[in-house]
Amino acid sequence: MKFVTKHIKSISIIIFILAVILCAVYFQLSKPHSYTFYAFDTFVNLTLYGKNADAVADNAEKLIIKLENELSLYRSGSITDKINSADVGEAVEVSAEYAGILRTALNVSEKSGGAFDITIRPLSMLWDVKNRTSPPSDDEIAVAKKLVGYENLILTENTVTKQSDLKIDLGGIAKGYAADKLKELLVSSGIKKGIINMGGNVCTIGSKNKTEGWNIGICNPSDPSQVICSTKASDMSVVTSGGYQRYFEYSGRKYHHIISPHTGYPADSSLASVSVICESSMLGDALSTAAFVLGKEEGETLIKSFAAKGIIIFSDGEVYRFD
Ligand code: AMP
Ligand code: MG
Repeated sequence: MKFVTKHIKSISIIIFILAVILCAVYFQLSKPHSYTFYAFDTFVNLTLYGKNADAVADNAEKLIIKLENELSLYRSGSITDKINSADVGEAVEVSAEYAGILRTALNVSEKSGGAFDITIRPLSMLWDVKNRTSPPSDDEIAVAKKLVGYENLILTENTVTKQSDLKIDLGGIAKGYAADKLKELLVSSGIKKGIINMGGNVCTIGSKNKTEGWNIGICNPSDPSQVICSTKASDMSVVTSGGYQRYFEYSGRKYHHIISPHTGYPADSSLASVSVICESSMLGDALSTAAFVLGKEEGETLIKSFAAKGIIIFSDGEVYRFD
């Protein structure tokens, strides 16, 4: 009898220890780990659930630095720099992945009637909203505008050729691409739940739980520290473009960073922001920039034509959702 009681006691202790270990593992897996680093001119925030999150986040940071070195027009030796420095007619070999970004960009350019145009560089450089304190002259804008035209960027498989002396700026699509690549890395590293936030470019992994998607807040353009509305997302991206994100003020007017290739001026469509909800962050990024330039009617038509959903915030604070 004594022997049986002793045995039961030992088994109970083992069960108790196992339960504690299981609880610790469960707690570790269900606890979010947060990481922030600076890349692509913005704060990149990762919220990851699961084991090995520290090691995975380390690799994610390395990947984002590598991508920035490939894509940024400010990095000498980047593919973008090579294209921008190439002579007219010179063939520039690009990676299959870089060609994929250009293909998406050119497709959205065509479908948006040129509202989205990565050859915007002469205008984005002229407007330089980070450093300017007053707008450029009409003459300067007219000269820069003539240099813009995606039709002169020829992509054949993995080769890019310029038909005019154009320069590209992937600022309207690169963060989305980077978010997609980050997600790929995180998922292949075993992360089943998480959120990637690249300054308004949110890409979700999995769902919050079995019944609910992640709740993604959309910034109030009049006070970006506040949320104006939210949307649920599971394995989806929510990408926002807004005139409130980067701008300078002159004579009581705001001059922001999203430029209409047709006018050469910051897009003036009475929209305060456009959010696009779709699977590909890269596509969502290009579409939100394009729709911001196009305005409500054409922007909505464009977003819907890619089977994506959208949320428009008007300058007066009205929230308009469509799918
Ligand atoms: P986003 O914040 O994604 O809307 O992109 C804005 C950035 O894209 C700007 O800072 C520029 O680098 C670039 N950009 C500005 N206007 C356009 C445009 N019409 N088409 C494509 N890229 C643009
Ligand atoms: Mg964009």
